[in-house]
Amino acid sequence: MIPRTKQPEGTGIPRATGRIIGDMGGGQSGPTLVCFGGIHGNEPAGVAALESVFAQLATEANPLEAGRFIGVRGNLAALEQGRRFLVHDLNRLWTLPRMAVIREKEPSLRSPEEAGLLEIFKCLHRILKESGPPFYFVDLHTTSSPTLPFMTINDAVINRKFAGLFPVPVILGIEEYLDGPLLSYINELGYVSLGFESGRHEDPAAVRAAEDFLWLALEFAGLMGKSPGPQAAERLARLREAARGDRNFYEVFYRHALHGAENFRMVGGFRSFQALPRGTLLAHDHSEPVYMKKKGLLFMPLYQDQGDEGFFLIRRIPSRALRLSAWLRRFRFQDVLPVLPGIRWAAPGSQHLLVNLRVARFFSKKLFHLLGFRSKQKDRTHLLLSNRERTARNEDYAETFWFRRKFVRK
Ligand SMILES: [Zn+2]
Repeated sequence: MIPRTKQPEGTGIPRATGRIIGDMGGGQSGPTLVCFGGIHGNEPAGVAALESVFAQLATEANPLEAGRFIGVRGNLAALEQGRRFLVHDLNRLWTLPRMAVIREKEPSLRSPEEAGLLEIFKCLHRILKESGPPFYFVDLHTTSSPTLPFMTINDAVINRKFAGLFPVPVILGIEEYLDGPLLSYINELGYVSLGFESGRHEDPAAVRAAEDFLWLALEFAGLMGKSPGPQAAERLARLREAARGDRNFYEVFYRHALHGAENFRMVGGFRSFQALPRGTLLAHDHSEPVYMKKKGLLFMPLYQDQGDEGFFLIRRIPSRALRLSAWLRRFRFQDVLPVLPGIRWAAPGSQHLLVNLRVARFFSKKLFHLLGFRSKQKDRTHLLLSNRERTARNEDYAETFWFRRKFVRK
């Protein structure tokens, strides 16, 4: 059972420990905002921000105008120890095959993260059953290096549009490089889901930015009533300043995979979004030097002893490409692709396309990206593409103020 605190009679007092940080509102009428903090145990800023927001809401007689707001603690055991994870990274387990294996396992043989996954899974599906649409999911994180606050999203138009309300940079396509993040699982269910990375782990500003983000999310998702609260403008200004006015969209084009973070040493002093020339010495991996192969923007350089990625490289997506892709998707251009040679559905009724690169040579990964596909290399000659638009529950969001807006660059 999820402990519930119903308004108006409930107190809404947050629990100090345990899975649920807070749970307010309720009933079948939406919207429902679900926020996760501490999916990585060394990132307590999100938990602290959620605790603070619930505590402030609890002092008000009628804190929510509508809907339900739930805060969920992620990796309980790792949070206690201040480690990213103890046995498994809780943000790399959310694939269907992996989850099936975990479910089959003898309970006593499950790692703390595997047990945690099953608990969060049940909690998530109970919320989806008990609460009303539209649903919004937010996963709060921080990074080991200094960074502007930023969002990561899977590239569906609903995510882009909702993310576009927040004055911080947005990174598309990181899920192509990661297996099993929680948000990809939720996104495949068709809901708006945003990752928000609020700053460096130890920086008190990271808690502040996460709090501002949560209040704005409550506002934008429609839980706080029609007119924006007086503090919304202030929160927007603070986030905009923290992000130094950067509200561009970026895409990941390179991931430096690690075989053991203990053998990786990033050169000191780098930060996310730092522009670097070709040839810059970035790190040593198993004592081998790692250089920038071409110029680009460094993203999430690793300064901790746990993690699967040393760093990423990103590039800005031109606004005309964003507009073009929104337009192509509106006309469902993606649906006619299988009539072309070398492209077919992976299975009847499947959401995945299989592309034979030998035949469909005229297509580039870039074009598939424009159409909302994310690709995984299946083998040397085949790409497996999944389309975010085919699963997105656009109809759930059709009446919201932000969905009806034309997609404009922020
Ligand atoms: Zn994290």
